Amino acid sequence: MVLHDGVQYRAADAHAHIYPGKIAEKATASVGSFYDIPMGNVGLPHVLWEAGGGAGIDRFLVCSVATKVEQVRSINEFIAQKCRKYPQFLGFGAWHQDIEDIEGEMDEIERLGLRGIKVHPDFQRFQIDDPRMLPVYEEASRRGLPVLFHTGDSRMDFSSPRRLMAVLNKLPDFTCIAAHLGGYTEWDTARRELRGTNVYIDTSSSLFAVSPEKARESIYHFGVEHTLFGTDFPMWKPDEELERFFALGLSEEENRAVLYGNFQRLFHLDG
Ligand SMILES: [Zn+2]
Repeated sequence: MVLHDGVQYRAADAHAHIYPGKIAEKATASVGSFYDIPMGNVGLPHVLWEAGGGAGIDRFLVCSVATKVEQVRSINEFIAQKCRKYPQFLGFGAWHQDIEDIEGEMDEIERLGLRGIKVHPDFQRFQIDDPRMLPVYEEASRRGLPVLFHTGDSRMDFSSPRRLMAVLNKLPDFTCIAAHLGGYTEWDTARRELRGTNVYIDTSSSLFAVSPEKARESIYHFGVEHTLFGTDFPMWKPDEELERFFALGLSEEENRAVLYGNFQRLFHLDG
């Protein structure tokens, strides 16, 4: 439980990255240099559990990104293995735009007990609305697997909110999470160009840069009931991200929804 202003909240981190031990330091450092942001932690599962659990968070959506198609299987097995070890973790599978057997790979993701798919178009170098990806979104949608997109980067165009909107124009019911308040460094564009019935956003890697007023504008644009708290661990320290979140000054009921209620509903969790 997280305690704020005398109120106890249950909290889930809807955006956390974990890496296998032998590459964790290097992978963490390369993400830090891509964004030119000093990393708060090293992306190891036990560090996530210690830092997040220490801050009072007791559920974590964990994921990793495959920059080569050959990495998908081993990443997904790693994520699934860590979810077995840490019952607090709920895993998303990695995907790659070069996967040919879409149904087969999705069978594998479901067999591993993973609950959705994570992609990072800028690292993976594909456009969100790439025609190869449309059948992937359709199949994920059909199976009830939400797709978490790294969204937005004003330095490039792969993950722009506009491209996600192009997908939603074709698949209006598609359940997706547009990370970083709908578009990292493109927060205004995201509010202008992106909307949809099943579009969720997360608060990760944004609150350090966006004023509380602007963050609230994004949250109300997409809907409080479509907003998930996330840290982008290991980028940010969970306790500090919680502080930034509470500084938005949302109501107690809104805090409850964003910190846990929406996460619980999206993933059909009992408790
Ligand atoms: Zn991410």
